Amino acid sequence: MRLLILLIFGISLPFMRSVTAQEIDTALLMGKVNYSKHDSFARLPQYMTTKEDAYLQNQVIDSLKKMFAAAQKEGIVFKVISASRNFEAQKNIWERKWNNEHQKNPQIEDLECAKKILRYSSMPGTSRHHWGTDFDLNSLEPAYFNTGKGKKEYDWLREHAASYGFYQPYDGNPNRSGYQEEKWHWSFFPLSSYYLSTYIALTKPSDIHGFKGAQTAEKINIIQYVEGVAPAPQSEN
Ligand SMILES: [Zn+2]
Repeated sequence: MRLLILLIFGISLPFMRSVTAQEIDTALLMGKVNYSKHDSFARLPQYMTTKEDAYLQNQVIDSLKKMFAAAQKEGIVFKVISASRNFEAQKNIWERKWNNEHQKNPQIEDLECAKKILRYSSMPGTSRHHWGTDFDLNSLEPAYFNTGKGKKEYDWLREHAASYGFYQPYDGNPNRSGYQEEKWHWSFFPLSSYYLSTYIALTKPSDIHGFKGAQTAEKINIIQYVEGVAPAPQSEN
């Protein structure tokens, strides 16, 4: 038991030190920020992304550069296809899907509609993409990562990402609650684990509002979706 405590401390201290120096930015937790003007953020160099304006936290970019370089040496090319998204950007995604579902089925119940979208998309104010710690790589198609090039890329991440601080929060564990597995979504654990615990401590479903269907957040207990992540980085090595 004592050994376990020491181990946890040994792992957590380096990043605890760097994040406790930072103020808890509750606006950031909900995506209520302008990333281009935020001191902790930078724009991703163009070679790392398919987007023109992709922002992540500085620490995340530093580690991601190292990981991309290591992968490149083995002929594997990663591109960030989605990075930080503020509340407004997430609202656009959510409401586009909300309207689509209602167009397909005008009788759809709000609760059913929300749950359908929540298979892969977050409600505004609850997305890990708000934090600047999480990003999507190469493809948003689940099947892409099951064969050929995509499988090779995913296998590489499974083996190496943890040594750069990255992990797959929406893993394939059937006992995990919340979103479906997302092999493209990766997270910088030293920062995001801290944001997650702060988020859970501070946020109630009634804090989630300001978009179509927001009234379902309490019934769904939307915070469960935020909590429904893999526990920690795991390397298969
Ligand atoms: Zn994502």
